[in-house]
Amino acid sequence: MHQYATGRPDAKDTEELQGFAKTIFEKFAADQLPVSRLQVPGSRPYKKAGGAGLVPKADKKCVSCGLCAKNCPAQAIDPGSLKTAVSKKCISCMRCVVKCPESARKVNGTMVSVAALAIKKACSERKGNELFL
Ligand code: SF4
Ligand code: SF4
Repeated sequence: MHQYATGRPDAKDTEELQGFAKTIFEKFAADQLPVSRLQVPGSRPYKKAGGAGLVPKADKKCVSCGLCAKNCPAQAIDPGSLKTAVSKKCISCMRCVVKCPESARKVNGTMVSVAALAIKKACSERKGNELFL
């Protein structure tokens, strides 16, 4: 969905993140990092991972190198069955798509279009970075 957040991270992100780093460093130096009391906003309970429908599959360009399985953060790709992913484990992060040297992994185009439409309102405006300490 490259229509959203195009060009990010950009110079403004860099500036904001450098500011966050400075804040973290100052808190750390002053021994004021309240990690145990960390509160972040969001809708709870969180949704269970998996079952999102956007699960990449490999096409015939796949050379079975195994990089996708090695890089999947959810262990959703079985090294013995590289063409598919376990939909109940997949978190639709698309890391396997980015890491595949053969551009063999893809998501169903119709599903991507539907998902892009669903998040259009929420993702059309620039989102700022936030730091929670
Ligand atoms: S990274 Fe790409 S080429 Fe390698 S096993 Fe996975 S899908 Fe196949
Ligand atoms: S989209 Fe993410 S979680 Fe799903 S198989 Fe690829 S790397 Fe794993």
